[in-house]
Formats: sequence, structure tokens, C-alpha cells
Amino acid sequence: MRLAVASRNPGKLAELRRLLNGHPWELVGLDAAGFTGELEEPADTYEENAAAKALAVCAATGMASLADDSGIEVPGLGGWPGPSSARWMGPEAGDVDRREGLLAEVERRCPGDRRARYVCVVTLARPATPPLSARGETTGVLVPPRGSGGFGYDPCFLSDDLGITFGEATAAAKDGVSHRARALAALLARLAGEGA
Ligand code: IMP
Repeated sequence: MRLAVASRNPGKLAELRRLLNGHPWELVGLDAAGFTGELEEPADTYEENAAAKALAVCAATGMASLADDSGIEVPGLGGWPGPSSARWMGPEAGDVDRREGLLAEVERRCPGDRRARYVCVVTLARPATPPLSARGETTGVLVPPRGSGGFGYDPCFLSDDLGITFGEATAAAKDGVSHRARALAALLARLAGEGA
């Protein structure tokens, strides 16, 4: 089955490709799928945004489409930035700005509670079939940046499971415990339950 990946984030795309390696799906980027539109994230929840992206690409291309909506949540900041993790600093900010900005917010508002969790929701949209979604989470602590692997907030995310930051972890180690891996595993289990 050809599967269009409804994302323009190269870090996410690389991870989804790795995680689905060995499955009978040919992953196709948006350009190759012929999708030229904008990928809107219209809502405040991962579930709604992942469904909106997957359904938009499926409707425009006629292909089965997979979307990921994800973010980092800081309980000491009421779960912020959550679904706005990529956008809260505005369109000009890069990964380094957002990392430094998040650490500064934690330092200012909840220095005694540096817990964080990554959340990922994946949605599979197929023509004439109700969409399927699944969620995965992984917990850690926010620390000054260490390592240069991964993307986004990874160098600042000290994983509870690994004892090192996702920036220091190998791709395989991150894939063993990540929110994205857990969400995809749950989605695949739901698909298997469907007899797909
Ligand atoms: P969106 O799902 O396109 O709204 O973007 C999610 C954002 O959350 C990314 O741009 C990153 O800033 C952050 N994020 C989500 N998953 C990860 C991850 O695995 N590593 C690092 N940052 C992540």
C-alpha cells in the first residue's frame, strides 16, 4: 500500500520512515503524492489536528494518508506548550530559540518541577473508511541541552526510560521508547484488530 505522509517536518518524516521500515507500506512524501496545499492545524488538540491533516491529504490525493500531531507538555506550566509546541514562538523562531525559550519559561515559572512529557497522536485516513487514530506518550525531565541527535526539543529532554537526553540517544534507542513509536505501535495494533 502506498501511504502519503502528511507532514513537512523532516525530523518527523525521518522517524516515521524508520519506524515503519519493514512494514508493507511505501511511504510517499507530500510532493511525490501531488499534495501542494497547506497543512492546517486548526484546533487545540492533537487528535483534531492529526485527523485534519490526514483527511486533507487523503481527500486531495485519493491515497491512504498518515499524519502525526505531537508536542511537549510541561505539567508545571499546566501542560503548555502542548499542541502549539511548533508555533508558540511565532513563524521565525527555530528549534534552538524554542528550546531556550521553553527552558527560560520553566526557570521563571516552575524551577522546582522540570518534568515533561512528549505526546504524539497519529491518524491514518483511507478513502471511504473511517479514520483510525492512536496516542503515545513518553516522560522525562527538561535539562540544559545535551547531544545533537533527534530534532526539536530532543537535546533538552532527559528521558526517564533511557537516562540520557534524546539528543544523546541513538536513533534506535529513541525509537525504542518514543511517543511516536508508541503511537504507531498502538495504531498498528488497532489496524491488526481490524483485520487490515
Ligand atoms: P506539529 O505536530 O507539527 O505541530 O509539531 C510538533 C512539534 O513538537 C515539533 O515541531 C517539535 O517542536 C515538538 N516535537 C514533537 N515530537 C518531537 C520529538 O520527537 N522530538 C523533539 N521535538 C518534538
